[in-house]
Amino acid sequence: MKIHLNQIPSGGTLHVEGEEDRDILDLHDALAQAKSPVRYSLDVGLSGGGLFATGTLSVDLELECVRCLNRFPYTVEVPNFAVQVELTTAETVDLTDEAREDILLVLPPHPHCDWNGATTCAGVLEMQRIQEPEPAAEPEGPNPWATLDQLSKPKDR
Ligand SMILES: [Zn+2]
Repeated sequence: MKIHLNQIPSGGTLHVEGEEDRDILDLHDALAQAKSPVRYSLDVGLSGGGLFATGTLSVDLELECVRCLNRFPYTVEVPNFAVQVELTTAETVDLTDEAREDILLVLPPHPHCDWNGATTCAGVLEMQRIQEPEPAAEPEGPNPWATLDQLSKPKDR
């Protein structure tokens, strides 16, 4: 995600968009794997000896549900990517590190396959079966609430 400084119009912004290899995310976690390149769409400008960039990032991932261990597709989006970096003597500025950090920040720490309600997590079904209420047992002995019922009733005169 290299920006060539000489392409940025002075006093204006440069719109750059494209894709970066998914390897920039450096995801070695079996729980999260990138399935697409990292897409970016940025407006880049210069101000006060620095370079600023704002825009969006997104990448399609495959995550593993922490409850049922099924893998499911998940698109990570950074809708408000914004960075400011100091300029060096180099002719290009590489925003790859900043982009990676922001994408990793919005990754769900405990992914659930039913995150958008489109599917039902098999793990949830399992838990609902376990939590189904037992048939109500017949009360044994005197009902402790009966006394209270008596107290709350208006007394006959
Ligand atoms: Zn699940």
